[in-house]
Amino acid sequence: MSRQKQGGKPAETKDGGTLAAAHTTASGQRQTDILSAGSPGLSAWLKEHGEEPFRAGQILRWVCQRQADSFEEMTDIKKDLRERLARDFVVPRLALLDQAESGDGSVKYLFGLSDGQAVEAVLMAERDHYTLCVSSQVGCAMGCAFCRTGAMGLSRNLTAGEIVAQVRDALTLAPGKMRLTNLVFMGMGEPLANYDNLVAAITLLMDADRGFAFAGRKVTVSTAGIAPNIPRLGRDTRASLAVSLNAVDDALRTRLMPINATYPIEDLLAACNRFPLQKGRRITFEYVLLAGVNDSVTEAKKLASLLHPKRAKVNLIPYNPHDASPFSRPSERAVRDFQQVLLDRHYTTVIRKSRGADIHAACGQLRAKALGE
Ligand code: SAH
Ligand code: SF4
Repeated sequence: MSRQKQGGKPAETKDGGTLAAAHTTASGQRQTDILSAGSPGLSAWLKEHGEEPFRAGQILRWVCQRQADSFEEMTDIKKDLRERLARDFVVPRLALLDQAESGDGSVKYLFGLSDGQAVEAVLMAERDHYTLCVSSQVGCAMGCAFCRTGAMGLSRNLTAGEIVAQVRDALTLAPGKMRLTNLVFMGMGEPLANYDNLVAAITLLMDADRGFAFAGRKVTVSTAGIAPNIPRLGRDTRASLAVSLNAVDDALRTRLMPINATYPIEDLLAACNRFPLQKGRRITFEYVLLAGVNDSVTEAKKLASLLHPKRAKVNLIPYNPHDASPFSRPSERAVRDFQQVLLDRHYTTVIRKSRGADIHAACGQLRAKALGE
């Protein structure tokens, strides 16, 4: 499979992001990224060009399910239409700039974008499947005090096509026979700050007929807490929700996560209550444990009472140290004591093991290493 960088300067969108949709060929012709166009964009093009609507499904199935890299390969589509599609659309691949494999089977990819920026995606090996940790932005504007990506600031939003392309590329790169069935938006960036592109990407990723057919309960969006977009996400997609809580009182949470000054804990939890939960599903609350900062048993008890009576489960993430923040990881004992309080109150509580710690797997760290940041 060939992996090349696409040429051309991406166009600016009204929210300051870039539109992967726009590529310029050597002859100066503008082309649209077919993963950004998705079903709505392609259907509109077909209508405009007097083609039958069912072609959209045929073409997208080639790209999403059969991993076609060119229109040439789409042999059940008439030649003339293939040529016109190739003039107006590109089938994007990201440039694989770097990859690092961990002893535990995880692989971290550094993907280059058409404007020279780079994002990470981490393929995590579970018992019987892979989970891909996907990025939604280059950098992040939220400025959380413990986060490597936060220290970079925001460069730009990813386009829907760039989000989907991480998954499409990982599907072909994933080693062995294990299937990539789960996606978590826990890579670089704040997904709910890039809302429209996120929803367009998830729509194609979950489209069982023409897209990638990921199941709703296996696609999880993690947010720092942009409260108004939480119920919206539940209405616009069937994705699962994870919320990075990380502190149980507003003063500390604002210090760790400045977004809390805009959407304090009460507003955030109220927004979670308005998230339409599908039957049998729960909201995941993530809690990064920072030694001596937010890891006391008193805070664990407060966390349990804050979540009560939500349909919630808890993901404890022992801090992954990096040189852009001053925190340290609590002892195993402190982590277990914190967990026990929640278990005693009947919350499913898992300690997320630090997968790929030897490959700089914490958010933003491979990029920092590769680009010498
Ligand atoms: N912006 C989104 C998703 C990306 S961050 C969010 O904040 O939810 C994904 C998760 O990684 C978040 O729960 C965040 O709190 C956590 N995280 C960030 N930096 C970390 C670090 N150094 N160690 C452990 N967890 C970290
Ligand atoms: Fe952004 Fe999430 Fe990192 Fe906060 S934790 S800076 S929201 S990526």
